[in-house]
Amino acid sequence: MVSGILEEGSLFNELSKCNHQRVVFCNDEDTGLKAIIAIHDTTLGPAFGGTRMWNYKTESDALRDVLRLSRAMTYKAAISGLNLGGGNAVILGDSRVNKTETLMRRFGQFVRHMNGSFITAEDLGTNSRDMEYIRMETEHVIGAHEASTSANPSPITAKGVFMGIKACLKEFYGSDSLAGRSVAVQGIGHVGESLVHLLREENAKVYVSDIDEDRVRQVAKKSGADPISNNNILDLEFDVYSPCALGGIINSSTIPKMKCAIIAGSANNQLADEDLHGRMLLEKGIIFAPDYLINAGSMINSYAELSGYSKKRALQLAENIYEVTRGVLQKSKAENIPTNKAADIIAEKRISDIKKIKTSY
Ligand code: NAD
Repeated sequence: MVSGILEEGSLFNELSKCNHQRVVFCNDEDTGLKAIIAIHDTTLGPAFGGTRMWNYKTESDALRDVLRLSRAMTYKAAISGLNLGGGNAVILGDSRVNKTETLMRRFGQFVRHMNGSFITAEDLGTNSRDMEYIRMETEHVIGAHEASTSANPSPITAKGVFMGIKACLKEFYGSDSLAGRSVAVQGIGHVGESLVHLLREENAKVYVSDIDEDRVRQVAKKSGADPISNNNILDLEFDVYSPCALGGIINSSTIPKMKCAIIAGSANNQLADEDLHGRMLLEKGIIFAPDYLINAGSMINSYAELSGYSKKRALQLAENIYEVTRGVLQKSKAENIPTNKAADIIAEKRISDIKKIKTSY
């Protein structure tokens, strides 16, 4: 995925390297709006992605973030079989201080000017109230209270992660049964907690850790999982390690300690360095379920909202993650390539195949 670093004065070079279709800089003196909308690829459908409001140190940081996020959305939609492209927007500023109705509505007008090529939703620093403001200016937004029909995405994300875990078990042990398998879930927030319940329903032996110890106690009590310390989670042996908190957790210092057979969790960008650490896991014989594939439930949930929401349909789409993960693992094994690389190739192939049929209309 994206690994480029902006060099002084090489803005266009960077844009063409990531192959973005369009990057729009939004500037409005009256409201103080400074935002960037990046459309990475619309071969499969309109670009979909969150609007993040963040106090970036530099404008280059904001640009780098929006380019990286929008490209990741293209891959997530493509691998999940959704007819959506990849996009993202960032608003520069402190969401606690600089966010106003007029700023969000002005941003909504910029979204409207994209003529449906960009559909947005909430992200870090924005919420459903902000989506309501955007909705006052454009219909190309989801998750606005009044108009929103979809449910909380976290249980759908958890379902996808659960199916990803089962696909990995099938590959490693020849059976996807969770009965008696040990799974450590690190981070038991919205997704982690739902995942714990799904795992317990199928009689997995579940261990939970979090920096919030009260939460660990509560979730353990409710679900029958065993609490473990967050500090030495990697010293213990499990069938599955499921990172559901932070990115970058798979790196050169954690991989040598890992004793699990499988890594499959919801956290975004788990590999600190995609090429290096994907390869290290392959060489160590640990199966890694690519995060952007198995955590696609929230995008799937949004996709379901775009076509008249049904939770049943969203869950069905999330269940497909099982078969897609199986395909990725089989390709990784057959070609001796890291699973994240295999997923990228499958996503890119879907885009190029659909591009061919579109050009022949
Ligand atoms: P959340 O904020 O509800 O939960 C995160 C949990 O992780 C919290 O309980 C927090 O205390 C804990 N945590 C934070 N730092 C930790 C650390 N160093 N060690 C252990 N625990 C730590 O978030 P969430 O919505 O459950 O999302 C979890 C992860 O999954 C995030 O990386 C998120 O980006 C990703 N994700 C979530 C969704 C979704 O639908 N919510 C979709 C795709 C990806």
